[in-house]
Amino acid sequence: MEDNNLFYCASKDTTPMMSQYFATKAQYPGCILLFRMGDFFEMFFDDAKTASSILNIALTSRGKHLEQDIPMCGIPVAALDNYVGKLVKYGYKVAVCDQIEDPQEAKKRGYKAIVKREVTRILTAGTLVEDNFLNSNKNNFLMAVVPEVVKKTAQIKTVSFAVIDISTGDFFVNTVIANEFDSTMDMYQPKEIIIPSYFEKSEFAKKLKTTKISLTFLPDSKFNSTMEKERLEKYFKVKTLDSFGINSNNELSVCGAILEYLLITQRDNFSSLPIPRKMSFSNYLVIDASTSKSLEITTSVHGEYEYSLLGVIDQTKTAFGARLLASRVSMPVIEKNLLEKRLDCVEFFIKNKNLAEKIREELSICPDMERSISRIRFNKFAPRDVGDIRESLRIMIKIKSILNGSGLPSEGEYFIENMRDFSDLLKLLDKALVEKLPAGNKDGGMIADGYSRELDELKYTKNHSEDLIADLQAKYISETGINTLKIKNNGILGWYIEIPATQKSKVPDNFIHRQTLVNNIRYITKELMALQARLSEAFDEWFLLEQQLYAKLIEDIMKYYDEINYAIKLISLIDIYTNFAILSIERGYIRPEITDEPILKIKNGKHPILAAHIEDFTKNDCELTEDSRVCLLTGPNMAGISTYLRQNALLIVLAQIGCYVPATEARIGLIDRLFSRIGASDDIARGRSTFMVEMIETATILNQATEKSFVILDEVGRGTSTYDGLAIAWAVIENLYRVNKCRVLFATHYRELTVLQNVLKNIQCKTLKVQEWNNEVIFHHKIIDGIADKSYGIHVASLAGIPQSVVKRATELLKNFESKNSIEHLEAEEKTSNSVEDLISIPKPISDQMSFFYDLDNDELRKKLKAINLDLISPRNALDILYELKELA
Ligand code: ADP
Ligand code: MG
Repeated sequence: MEDNNLFYCASKDTTPMMSQYFATKAQYPGCILLFRMGDFFEMFFDDAKTASSILNIALTSRGKHLEQDIPMCGIPVAALDNYVGKLVKYGYKVAVCDQIEDPQEAKKRGYKAIVKREVTRILTAGTLVEDNFLNSNKNNFLMAVVPEVVKKTAQIKTVSFAVIDISTGDFFVNTVIANEFDSTMDMYQPKEIIIPSYFEKSEFAKKLKTTKISLTFLPDSKFNSTMEKERLEKYFKVKTLDSFGINSNNELSVCGAILEYLLITQRDNFSSLPIPRKMSFSNYLVIDASTSKSLEITTSVHGEYEYSLLGVIDQTKTAFGARLLASRVSMPVIEKNLLEKRLDCVEFFIKNKNLAEKIREELSICPDMERSISRIRFNKFAPRDVGDIRESLRIMIKIKSILNGSGLPSEGEYFIENMRDFSDLLKLLDKALVEKLPAGNKDGGMIADGYSRELDELKYTKNHSEDLIADLQAKYISETGINTLKIKNNGILGWYIEIPATQKSKVPDNFIHRQTLVNNIRYITKELMALQARLSEAFDEWFLLEQQLYAKLIEDIMKYYDEINYAIKLISLIDIYTNFAILSIERGYIRPEITDEPILKIKNGKHPILAAHIEDFTKNDCELTEDSRVCLLTGPNMAGISTYLRQNALLIVLAQIGCYVPATEARIGLIDRLFSRIGASDDIARGRSTFMVEMIETATILNQATEKSFVILDEVGRGTSTYDGLAIAWAVIENLYRVNKCRVLFATHYRELTVLQNVLKNIQCKTLKVQEWNNEVIFHHKIIDGIADKSYGIHVASLAGIPQSVVKRATELLKNFESKNSIEHLEAEEKTSNSVEDLISIPKPISDQMSFFYDLDNDELRKKLKAINLDLISPRNALDILYELKELA
């Protein structure tokens, strides 16, 4: 959109209203401006074109500007939320410009005076609080970032960020190294990111633009740390921000930018911001973005929730519990003590199942109080929110009484005791509010009878005046003899008398004529006018007092803000623990034994997602020990290898969020990072080939995995030619074994790789049990010791419907290839060859420091090879070198 373009300026023949439009539009660059005109919000120019196509509404035009038609489209005022929600979902920012005075008022200033208008709301993806715009199971984060750039190289070193969910009050700040920013994004999944304009053209911003996240560039001055420091200290009324752990300038800048942005978009409409909390990632298990995606932790590869890890374990009963669980799944922890405490709580609820069920019954009717109270904070609430808070308090009080003295382990008991008993507040709300609150508060009606005598009296007068109208109508009927005479009310005339036109002759002189319609004539009288004045006075007085009482009530609720939030967090935890307990009972999950040793011992493990969806899931064991950390899996296609790899990774994730696991025995050594490289997912959108993606992900693993990490690699090296791939896979395993020393499950189709078990001590070789029977292949999905004898690729091809003629031909060819090329055959064949293709498939160990080649008479080749330090080269180098070697050969 061309904002600030000279085109959008008033010219000499611009109407006053369009001038007002231009002036407003200029104040809100980057926003679609909705301009209130009577019963519609209108959009003009490019805004109209954009909105009409997104919202599927007619594009018309209104008047001319610089001799061109002005494109226009509009939406009815009553349907505003629906339409705006859609625009925001598409990543647009919307400024709503309303009429802030009665058009009648404007007319008093002169016939041509225009109505005063002002932007009353700015909606952006990251600053929503309204329920109908939000997903109840997920946080809605707004993020501000400031990258730190190394001047010499222009490389980004670190990224400071702050994230806030104003619909819940969560506010975090931290700094991460540049290549961890992707995981951070994955963890919070922000809906909108604020960046200093300085970075608008940078690679960093370009990369963000490829995501669906709405980007907002703010002037660099809004990220000024010195100014922000003072501002924030003043804002939070603290002497120094050090107590929040915010010490770097960039962290100050991002917090300040968030505050600035909220002040702009919320138009000072909020009472206070929560205090930002410094997140320390060193306490969390890092799962990078591609791993989280391939393990389907929060959403399946096809985007479905119910086929993700979160989806199968989420049986929380409240929206705030669901949100906390989602954030826990994205941030598993690495602290043994903390996990034991969580597991103790789950165990408690398993042992006290009745208690758990009683609590869950209460939770299931608990409204989303966390968002209601945030809406109050941001002054965007409806009476229903206040009703929801009352309902939630009732439930919280019940849960507290259920759990008091129940023996909840760890600090649970203490936390429950410290949770406020909200009886006093609840008593107040029960007395003050009607049971069924109205949808909006523009007609009043929130305060219950009996709460305020004064209000009750005003209400009586108001209602009584309505009776007086009925009395007056009866009096006029008897006086005039017109039985069909009625006293009615509308927005334009106010109260009036209506009679059928046929009865006109009976109308007395004191009736003042107002309006003649086809069938009816309307009048007023002095008496009716007086009554009307009394009536509206009574209504106004009643309405005003009710608003005052209501506002006081809100103030009273907000006094409990911190205590209510404490209770919400506690109840969210109870929701999660009872969820895990019931889940474990229903599915037979067991408590994992958590240890700091670098091991993984699983007996009869199941894939938590798959096993939740298929009945006869085959259980499998896994045993990685301190001395034997690498397991090499070969197996036929479709046997279940990928499932097995994921399964073990997911069991670790479950354990590290404090959940029980699907197995009969689980000893899990805590891991600091989880990596996976699974399958070949094309990333064409980002202009990278499959193989490039594969290598980038593999490089990340080799560069970052530590002795405490867990790595699963599925068919690394498949995206290139066989020998390339084999060489890379080989080198990668060696590196993981020798340098990274992490726990590894490595699946491969290159059976040649299993020769490594002769070279690298204690590498495990496993495969999957397959049976051939009557020309059929039966997959048992069972992990056993050994090496796969075949790949059964052709069998799978046949299952997939490849024409039988092709299958037959492939079988013949395979026989031919195998007779020439089997491992045993090649190993036996100690001949000298000068073809690299032949040589590379005869991996024969010479010493612990492997070489692929022996008996070579080509000196050039030998020299080149000796020069390679396998521990230092990157997969990309390996590929280049291979090309070079092949050339030489
Ligand atoms: P591979 O990686 O060996 O080609 P997958 O792991 O993708 O095979 O599994 C192929 C299919 O086999 C899966 O979609 C699943 O339906 C089934 N499967 C895998 N493992 C099991 C198991 N342990 N029990 C039952 N079915 C399984
Ligand atoms: Mg597979």
